[in-house]
Amino acid sequence: MHQYKGKLIIHTGSMFSGKTSSLEKDVKRFKIAGYTTLAFKPVLDTRNNTSEIITHDKTSLEATLIKDIGEIIKLCNENNPDVVAIDEVQFLDGGIENIVSGIRALLEKEITIVLAGLDIDFSGQPFEVVKELMPLADYLTKHHAVCVKCGTDAWVSHRKTKDRERVVIGASKEYEPLCRKCFLEEKRIEEAIVNKNQVSFEDLKK
Ligand SMILES: [Zn+2]
Repeated sequence: MHQYKGKLIIHTGSMFSGKTSSLEKDVKRFKIAGYTTLAFKPVLDTRNNTSEIITHDKTSLEATLIKDIGEIIKLCNENNPDVVAIDEVQFLDGGIENIVSGIRALLEKEITIVLAGLDIDFSGQPFEVVKELMPLADYLTKHHAVCVKCGTDAWVSHRKTKDRERVVIGASKEYEPLCRKCFLEEKRIEEAIVNKNQVSFEDLKK
């Protein structure tokens, strides 16, 4: 009983790859095994303004909405959980160094931590927090959506709209999973149209 002490479990990958569903499954299993659990979700994701982790496939788990790692540590000190789950960890605030040292401190207190988060943004650049946490994991799973162009394992969540900000909350209307080959092909086509017509990327997406 309670063999999982101070383990870091990370589910990463692109959007629609099943990261959050896997996190929820882990938490449900820990609950069945008698562990006390706390689930958190950064408040930035306002798609569903409730205290639930809601996945694209609509399964759900109750989670406390928080802003930064400080709030998580405070609530852990107050509630003393066996297991802590954090969904969308790439949106967690509080500074990368504080997040990493906070996670380490919780692990050293023998709290098991389950994280779900995007490894790269829509342009293929790593999310720093996830990049720093991945090597610390005891168990690391990279999940894959299906590339909508060719059907192989997807690598990135390609943004179909013209927004260039790093974080645009959305679902299948704004993003599509693509493999690296199809993503690069898409970029080449976009650049060719921009060069040929002397239009900006923003014009192209209108
Ligand atoms: Zn593809």
